[in-house]
Amino acid sequence: MSKTKIVSPGEKLGVIEEYIPGSGTYEEDGKIFSSMAGELEIDPKNRSVGVTPSKKPAVPEVGDVVEGIVVGMKEDVALVKIVEIKGKRPLTGDFSAQLHISQVSKDYTKSIFDAVNLNDRILAKVTTGWAPYQLSTVDDDLGVIYATCTKCGGDLVLKKGKLYCTNDNISEKKKISRLYLLKE
Ligand SMILES: [Zn+2]
Repeated sequence: MSKTKIVSPGEKLGVIEEYIPGSGTYEEDGKIFSSMAGELEIDPKNRSVGVTPSKKPAVPEVGDVVEGIVVGMKEDVALVKIVEIKGKRPLTGDFSAQLHISQVSKDYTKSIFDAVNLNDRILAKVTTGWAPYQLSTVDDDLGVIYATCTKCGGDLVLKKGKLYCTNDNISEKKKISRLYLLKE
């Protein structure tokens, strides 16, 4: 496997005597430049040079808002699998994260089960730059955005600030995001 070379916009890639300018490039005074940041692609057979957007996977960084699924519950910690970083390229791998009880809300949270539960879909902010990424759901937009009833598995609907199951006529306590998906 050849090593990929990353080029930046305006970087000189060659001259037209050598190469045919391909996608992601432009020509000026017989020289070929990159028009974007990306990976250099030289095709020796066609003698063409081009640049394609970087395929490097997106990784979570401090301050990113991520969407995740709760995959495990421990005494004071929810284990979360990050499935999307908002505003970034799709993820190619799995990123594990943790939501500690102290990072759930501005208010005191007695039990992590009062905040999230297994399979809940949450929005959270990344607070560390390494795995397992630490998460916070303190902001109003953050917290659970979709959850199902622990009794019947039906959708929970946000009604008067609580998450209700209409089948069982019960509500479940959670740290609910202002962006909860199902509202009455
Ligand atoms: Zn139910």
